[in-house]
Amino acid sequence: MRDDFSQRTKDLLANRVGWKCSNPNCRKATRGAGIGKENIINIGVASHITAASKGGPRYDENITSQERASAENGIWLCQSCSKLIDSDVNRYTIAKLKKWKEISEQMAVLDLEEATAEEQHEDKELIKFFVQCFDRPAFQDRIYQEGRMEDFDKAIEDTIIALNTGVLRTRDGSILKKADGKSSVVNIEWREKLNTICDMLVALRKRLKIAKDTGAYSLYGEDDVMYCFYDRDLAIWFDSTREEILKILSSICEEIGIHGLGFPRKRYEW
Ligand SMILES: [Zn+2]
Repeated sequence: MRDDFSQRTKDLLANRVGWKCSNPNCRKATRGAGIGKENIINIGVASHITAASKGGPRYDENITSQERASAENGIWLCQSCSKLIDSDVNRYTIAKLKKWKEISEQMAVLDLEEATAEEQHEDKELIKFFVQCFDRPAFQDRIYQEGRMEDFDKAIEDTIIALNTGVLRTRDGSILKKADGKSSVVNIEWREKLNTICDMLVALRKRLKIAKDTGAYSLYGEDDVMYCFYDRDLAIWFDSTREEILKILSSICEEIGIHGLGFPRKRYEW
């Protein structure tokens, strides 16, 4: 009778070492893409540290059937290493295999930590880029200080595009490209905040369009450079909404440890 591992135990053993062979000198990936689009090739084996049946390699008669079939008694290896350990039991002892298993599990944790650190770094770089997108008069000057409303609207539109695609068109027409926009931010909380900011930007543009259609502001002067807001409450709403946007953005900056943006922008007093 063989004390085989259950599928659950096999998966557990593989997952705990990141599907890599546990022989520290091998560390081969045991799972990868197959030929078909949905096929996965698995060359990993859940090997027994002490044999599954009497007469097998490193068989230990002092443990129970249950212990023999437990994850404790298993080690995840590639096919060639699983043959290797059974070909020379004097060399590949129980103690050695347990050591391999321990090392491999520790390395899998280190791999994960490395991946997380990498992601955090990329998130930070992307947030810095977004802060740069908001560092312009359209987000930092009171509505009474804005120039043409069309430019104001365009600046907001450019920023929405930058958040969604990672592409920013600067005022001099050059294009800055960074990653793939806010959907590639790994930190869920930050991504949610950026989604909220984006919704608020969309609301600003919609409200501006209604304001224009209903004559809430008027244009005067040559080339419509000057305008006057008749609706005071609306002007306050434009200012407070942008202030809120920069507050949300700055709360992410604070977590990263970089300077956020304030509304309105601090001006030097002479
Ligand atoms: Zn191997």
